[in-house]
Amino acid sequence: EAFNWYEKHVNPGLAGLLRFTGLDKVESHAEGVYVWDTEGKRYLDFLGLYGTLSLGHRHPRVVEAVKAQLDRMPMSVRVMVSEPTARLAHRLAEITPGDLSMVFFGNSGTEAVEAALKFARIHTKRPGFITTKNGYHGKTYGALSVTPKEHYQLPAAPLVPGVTVVPFGDAKAVEEAIGPDTAAVILEPIQGEGGIRIPPEGYLREVRRITREKGVLLIVDEVQTGLGRTGKLWGVDWEGVEPDILTSAKALGGGVMPISATVVRPEIFEVYKHEPLIHSTTFGGNPLAAAAALAAIEVTLEQDLPARAQEMGQYLMGSLKQLWDAYPEFIEEVRGRGLMVGLEFTDADIGALVVAELATRGILTAFGLNNPKVVRLEPPLIVEKEHIDQAVEALGESLAATKV
Ligand code: PMP
Repeated sequence: EAFNWYEKHVNPGLAGLLRFTGLDKVESHAEGVYVWDTEGKRYLDFLGLYGTLSLGHRHPRVVEAVKAQLDRMPMSVRVMVSEPTARLAHRLAEITPGDLSMVFFGNSGTEAVEAALKFARIHTKRPGFITTKNGYHGKTYGALSVTPKEHYQLPAAPLVPGVTVVPFGDAKAVEEAIGPDTAAVILEPIQGEGGIRIPPEGYLREVRRITREKGVLLIVDEVQTGLGRTGKLWGVDWEGVEPDILTSAKALGGGVMPISATVVRPEIFEVYKHEPLIHSTTFGGNPLAAAAALAAIEVTLEQDLPARAQEMGQYLMGSLKQLWDAYPEFIEEVRGRGLMVGLEFTDADIGALVVAELATRGILTAFGLNNPKVVRLEPPLIVEKEHIDQAVEALGESLAATKV
């Protein structure tokens, strides 16, 4: 029944896609790396809510922290200060690179990006943005305007003006695109929805050098790469880069609550000294979500999940490369860093068939929102080798089934 209501009242097209992939199911409960549907079938979660579930489902430390806050005060009245919110801001200032130390809280990655764009314009008094081809930053007007995919942009046009698109991974193109009106460059350290694209070594450092030299802000969108996913705490840590603005969401809520943060250098928030309500939202950084985030950060650091992502990612990549050798006619490339891994198929239809075959074998995956040729594997960072073996074995069977 729930599936039919969803199809009728929420999203018929997506419901159709779920039917195609054999996932026209209703979820029942979840724990760790597993999800169960209402028919009692168990799935291994290799999508992790698009890279959100770094700690797996219902991590006990996060659940406990949220329960305790629920019994105390889940929502802030906002005319007083909330302790978990303030503590989380302090913690984020400690764990983000360089002098990023002021925080705007929202509820989603998109909201974090919206805030980043707005503050960049307010601070620089310039309107222009440079974004990267295939980049993904969200679908509200500001975020969509820097998500250069015609498929999503054109039906909703006109967008926010002033956006220039440059190829991802090309620092020279950024340098050439910067003009007197440029407020900021926005990019992902590794493109997620664009199909797990890793830029050439030195790219982030070079863009940082150029933006600094030209007095343009660098916004690094770590919504998907942040908090250990790529094998370092932040994606920028691979090149020791300190952005002016960093966005975080997804894993920040520990897989239990939605929350996002836009962390900036102090001068970017100077405007708040005389305009304290220039940008605000009712639920952003609410105590319940903040409690989840504080627990998520502690678990991530205590268990050194970035290192674990690196180790498990190498193991996964090694197994996938064997499959690549076996199926060169289907798999164009296997690429990834940490547990942010993509399989590029020679054709989007093959990818869709493989996602469907994997679902029947109890493995959850999906393709990139900006690139249907790439099936992404983003399991929880707590994944064990046996889970990886299980997923890779199912992938081998799925490829064999697709071949027939
Ligand atoms: N930025 C990046 C890099 C993302 O991957 C996403 C979501 N896939 C977003 C922004 C948007 O986040 P949300 O879906 O939470 O609004």
